[in-house]
Amino acid sequence: MRKILIVGAGQSGLQLALGLQSRGYEVTLMSNRTADEIRSGRVMSTQCMFHTALQHERDLGLNFWESQAPDIEGVGVSVAGPGSARVIDWVGRLDGHAQSVDQRVKMAGWMETFAQRGGQLVIHGAAVGDLDYFSRAYDLVLVSAGKGELVSMFERDPERSPYAAPQRALAVAYVHGLGPRPEHPEFDAVRCNLVPGVGELFVMPTLTTSGRADILFWEGVPGGPLDVFQGVKDPDEHLSLTLGLLEEFLPWEYARATKAELTDAGGTLAGRYAPTVRKPVGRLPGGGLVLGVADVVVANDPITGQGSNSASKCAASYLSAIVEHGDRPFDEAWMRATFERYWATARHATKWTNAMLAPPPEHVLTLLGAAGDLKPVADRFANGFNDPADFEDYFYEAARAEAYLAEVASA
Ligand SMILES: Cc1cc2nc3c(=O)[nH]c(=O)nc-3n(C[C@H](O)[C@H](O)[C@H](O)COP(=O)(O)OP(=O)(O)OC[C@H]3O[C@@H](n4cnc5c(N)ncnc54)[C@H](O)[C@@H]3O)c2cc1C
Repeated sequence: MRKILIVGAGQSGLQLALGLQSRGYEVTLMSNRTADEIRSGRVMSTQCMFHTALQHERDLGLNFWESQAPDIEGVGVSVAGPGSARVIDWVGRLDGHAQSVDQRVKMAGWMETFAQRGGQLVIHGAAVGDLDYFSRAYDLVLVSAGKGELVSMFERDPERSPYAAPQRALAVAYVHGLGPRPEHPEFDAVRCNLVPGVGELFVMPTLTTSGRADILFWEGVPGGPLDVFQGVKDPDEHLSLTLGLLEEFLPWEYARATKAELTDAGGTLAGRYAPTVRKPVGRLPGGGLVLGVADVVVANDPITGQGSNSASKCAASYLSAIVEHGDRPFDEAWMRATFERYWATARHATKWTNAMLAPPPEHVLTLLGAAGDLKPVADRFANGFNDPADFEDYFYEAARAEAYLAEVASA
C-alpha cells in the first residue's frame, strides 16, 4: 500500500491521517507533542466549527464528542455605539448546528485513536532536514504543521495575501461561570460583538477538558486599547484584563461575566499573526517535494472563525484527491491541482475574512442594521459562517446588498 507521511497533528493532519488510515494507506504521523502534552497544555483556538466541516468529521466516524459538546444554534451580532450603547443586536439561526470541542480534547483523543488503529505515530518536531530524508522514503509527504516554522518552506503568495502584517491582537480566555445570554437563552449561540475602530469580542460555548465552558475571545486592532495582552504571563492577570475591557466596552457582556473563572491554568492564549496564503508546494534542499495543508498554505485571521472549518474542508478535499489518484505518482502537477481544488472553496473564506478585517463600508453597516428587523437577513448572515461562498451574492458590492435588502423587504 502507498506510504504517506503527515507532519503535524492538528485538525487537518489528524483528520487526513485517520481518513487515509481507514482507506488502507500506510500512514506515519509526526507530532511535536504527545497526546498527554496536548491535553494538559495550553488552549490553541476557539475552534467553532459549522455544519459542513462537522459533517466531514461525521463522514469519517470521528465525531466522538458530538453528544457532549453544546450545540451552537445561532450567531448573534451586537454593535457598540457611542457611550457603549448597544446600537445593533440580533441573532440569526443556523440551519445545522455548530460546535466547539477544545482542540486539547479532540487532537489528543484523535491521536490516541490513530495509534490504537495501528498508525505509526512519531513524536518529533520535524525540521526541513528531516523532511529531505523522509521525502525519499514515502510516496507523499504532507506538511500540516499549522503556522509553525515549517511554513518557511512555502513561498508567500502576494497576489492572494493582501495583508503583510497582523491585523488583530488575539486574546482568548476559557471560563466557567458565565451567565446565560439574556436574549433567547433557550438555545446556544456564538455572540459577535463589534466595537468599531477598536476590535471584536466573540463569546461561545465549548466542550473543554473540564466539561462545558464558555470562551471570551478579544480581537483587538493592533496598537489600540485591546492590544494589552502581549507579555502577560499570569493567567489570572489575563482574565482580569479581559473582564476589565468587557466592562469598559461591552457592558452587556460584562453583566453576565462577573462570576467568570478560568477553566484551568492553560485556559488563556494571546498572540497575533499576519493572514497569509502560500504557494502549496515546498521544495526541499535535496530536491524532494512536499505539499502544504490547511493553515500552512491558507492562514486566515480567526475573526470569522474559519480556520478549523477550512482545515476540515482541506483534509476532506485532499483525501478525495489522494484516493482518486490511485497508484500514479504524487508529482508537482498533482500537488498544484490538489491545492487549487481546495482553493476553489478556501478562497471564499479568505475573501470574506479579509473583508471583515477592514473597516466596514456603509452598505455592510446597513445590512447588519437591517438584519435586526429582517430575520431572513440575520439567518443568511449566520449561515454564511458555514458557507462563505454565499457572501459573493449580496455582501461585497453595495448594489447587490441594496437589491437583496429590497427583495427581502418586499417579500
Ligand atoms: C485565537 C484563535 C481562535 C480561533 N478560532 C477559530 C474558530 O472559532 N473557528 C475556526 O474554524 N478556526 C479558528 N481558529 C483557527 C484554527 O484554530 C486553525 O486554523 C486550525 O487549527 C488549523 O488547523 P491545522 O491542522 O492547519 O493546524 P494546527 O491546528 O495549528 O495544527 C498543527 C499541528 O502541528 C504541530 N507542529 C508544528 N510544527 C511542527 C513540527 N515541526 N513537527 C511536528 N509537528 C509540528 C503543532 O504543534 C500542531 O499540533 C482560531 C485560531 C486562533 C489562533
